[in-house]
Amino acid sequence: KLHNTILELKGNIRVFCRVRPLLPNDEEKESMPVVQYPTSNELQGDGIELLQATGGQRHFFSFDKVFGPEVKQEQVFVEISQLVQSALDGYKVCMFAYGQTGSGKTHTMLGNPDVPGEGGVIPRSLEQVFQSSQALSAQGWSFRMQASMLEIYNETIRDLLVKGSVNSDSSKQYVVKHDSNGNTSVSDLTLVDVTHWKEVSNLLHQASQSRSVGKTAMNEQSSRSHCVFTLRISGVNESTEQQVHGVLNLIDLAGSERLSRSGATGDRLKETQAINKSLSSLGDVIMAIANKEPHVPYRNSKLTYLLQPCLGGDSKTLMFVNISPDSKSFNESLCSLRFAAKVN
Ligand code: ADP
Ligand code: MG
Repeated sequence: KLHNTILELKGNIRVFCRVRPLLPNDEEKESMPVVQYPTSNELQGDGIELLQATGGQRHFFSFDKVFGPEVKQEQVFVEISQLVQSALDGYKVCMFAYGQTGSGKTHTMLGNPDVPGEGGVIPRSLEQVFQSSQALSAQGWSFRMQASMLEIYNETIRDLLVKGSVNSDSSKQYVVKHDSNGNTSVSDLTLVDVTHWKEVSNLLHQASQSRSVGKTAMNEQSSRSHCVFTLRISGVNESTEQQVHGVLNLIDLAGSERLSRSGATGDRLKETQAINKSLSSLGDVIMAIANKEPHVPYRNSKLTYLLQPCLGGDSKTLMFVNISPDSKSFNESLCSLRFAAKVN
């Protein structure tokens, strides 16, 4: 039932599933665990079994990798560091975190960069990129790295790196453009040259204060926007005159929960529909790429249009599907796993 995936046959899209630990607030009443792994003592595998506490429904899924609740940030990063490295080799790389609010997306992508060992994909990737680029300078390489950070909220782009209330300045349009070389620009978007982790860390702090957070019945801090961190990497070798242009996109998606559970009405309902539109568009795009369909519907949402050159082609994509292990999340977990299984 849980078959091994043959990675070589799969093109450039990977799906990793990560299950967060039970939290004190999860109100786990049933004694039966909702999520199981290939074997209960295995930290990582490629299969996941979802069990309904009442009714006994069982669902099996397999992905490129499944991380259980005990798996630490560092162990997750081991599995993706190769992908990060390919951005320095000139590839366009996208990593997403998909899942319902509270399932561990932000923990996976950002974590707590200020606590040793608790940093997620973004801080670890950046540290590695800076270290590797320094090591490459011995071979004549010099790199320019530019960071930007934006959010897509209700299909509207907002710059997370502008100071003060410039976002309310309606003269800023944030129009996405792709040139014939596959380079993307967003008009008026702040690009910051970075060379050290500390600089990026300051940007992240700035950005987190600008992010939209709203109140839903499910989670007060739930994030209703897609947050896109982009590092543009340009390298030139002074002796060989080689050039590389890579991009690393690290994306914390908005919560994937459906309308009924978050009790959304009015503006909140509109917002949820916009979020679901770009999430389902993302799924459609990744599926079309994976199935090598002639038409890929990039233009159906802001998110997929922005990332168009970084999805498909010879770019590399990794999707984390984050799962809450508590029994009241059973339906959302099932939806998330089904979504991820479709794009895998
Ligand atoms: P999301 O961004 O999907 O809404 P969060 O990343 O904020 O979810 O995670 C919800 C809570 O669970 C946070 O308190 C976070 O610290 C905790 N958490 C998530 N994943 C893990 C994990 N793998 N290990 C420990 N705590 C986690
Ligand atoms: Mg979050």
